[in-house]
Amino acid sequence: MRFSCEKHCIGYADSRIDGIKFSEECGVFGGASKEHNIAPFIQQGLFMLQHRGQESAGICCGDDDLFTYKNRGLVMEVLSDKIIKTIIGKIGIGHVRYSTHGESDALHAQPYVITYLGEKVAVAHNGNVNAAIKMKKDLEEQGEVFLTTSDTEMILKKVVRELCKPPSEWLFEEIGEVLTNNFLGGAWSILFCTSEKVFAYRDPFGYRPLVICEAEEGVFVSSEDTAFQVLTVKKIIHIKPGEGVIITKYGYEIRRFAPEMPSRMCVFEHIYFARPDSNIFNKNVYMTRVELGKKCAIENPVDADIVVPVMDSGFAPALGFSQQSGIPFQMGLMRNRWVGRTFILPEQQLRKNGVIRKLTAMREVIEGKKVVIIDDSIVRGTTSVEIVRMIREAGAKEVHFRSASPKLINTCQWGVDIPSKNELIANSHKNTDGVKEFIEADSLKYLSLEGLKDVFGREGWCYSCLIPSNTNTSENSHRKLISIK
Ligand code: SF4
Repeated sequence: MRFSCEKHCIGYADSRIDGIKFSEECGVFGGASKEHNIAPFIQQGLFMLQHRGQESAGICCGDDDLFTYKNRGLVMEVLSDKIIKTIIGKIGIGHVRYSTHGESDALHAQPYVITYLGEKVAVAHNGNVNAAIKMKKDLEEQGEVFLTTSDTEMILKKVVRELCKPPSEWLFEEIGEVLTNNFLGGAWSILFCTSEKVFAYRDPFGYRPLVICEAEEGVFVSSEDTAFQVLTVKKIIHIKPGEGVIITKYGYEIRRFAPEMPSRMCVFEHIYFARPDSNIFNKNVYMTRVELGKKCAIENPVDADIVVPVMDSGFAPALGFSQQSGIPFQMGLMRNRWVGRTFILPEQQLRKNGVIRKLTAMREVIEGKKVVIIDDSIVRGTTSVEIVRMIREAGAKEVHFRSASPKLINTCQWGVDIPSKNELIANSHKNTDGVKEFIEADSLKYLSLEGLKDVFGREGWCYSCLIPSNTNTSENSHRKLISIK
């Protein structure tokens, strides 16, 4: 069984059981082919990116004209085989959506498409533009009308206003200049599609991943390389920050559109978002998570009989913890794959029920044992407390908890929907002992920030949500760069 396949069932649709929209971001996929209809490849690519967003899915494809189909729902619900057969064209882009800015309805599904000077142009975006609110207000004051509340419409309308010519005449560098001049500091992996070209851009700080694939079937671009598995791959290239690609039916060209900046790759792409079988920022996600688990075991030894993962993203760190500590790995918690989307449950009690519906503890594995639970992170702590209780009720002698990432103490300005600082349990409780009391564990330890940096590296990564704001020096220098611009 492929570990990551678990993310593809409907039951995976919730992000975290404790009601936090701290997980999937959007996913983008696009490409062009000389010989094949592109829609089935985009459908399959989006299906492989389903874990990055389950609110809506959409596609925009064509040849001389562009045809769009999008709606609320999962990829295979919205873009069924029946629908895909009706979409003809050799060039196109697609999107799966998890809303951070903007409402969660069909109107906000992407790709977002407009007709300008008689030509259609589509855009699909993964990330966040932190200047969005002010820029939108400025545009409205200049008479611009917006149909949605998402960043994506604003980005496209800004590009249209600045280029002022038919989309078929748009140049890669011109679009890149508009993006860099107006949206520097935001996180954007963004695709534009005209009837002849796909333009793809990765922001100059490289918060979000973007990767291209040269395949027998054509040339494709995606948020994650696991989406290329359905293709006959010849070559995969990770796009560097500030670079992009022009894709046509006849080939592709990688180009730089912005100067190199100190990169700010999001560590949570590895810790939580991405599929374990993806290579994000040239690093395999599964192997990284195993390393995090090993590091956590070195830093936080425990006297336990079994290591139990919190599925799904706790699986690989738990395996690493077990390998390093020699404590046997056991699937003491079972996941119900067919449970609904519990992240929309608003009340605490409903969330609690969501945990119980989603995970069950196996008494046969747990009874009489000293258990160490491994999770990828602790956010509000509401999931952790229910899991600890569940394991105790299944007869555990002791319940220890280990987080394979450091304390989450800040929100994210770059598109990851982390709760407010007050809601983060690492802030709302004085110290680790306070959190331990709250989740009712016999012991609680986190991987240290230094330990995390040992695994990822000291330069090139964004650790902002894990660093106290007043000591966040690299973050401050990053802000300075933006303000200079
Ligand atoms: S603040 Fe955290 S979640 Fe946001 S980009 Fe940085 S590492 Fe990722």
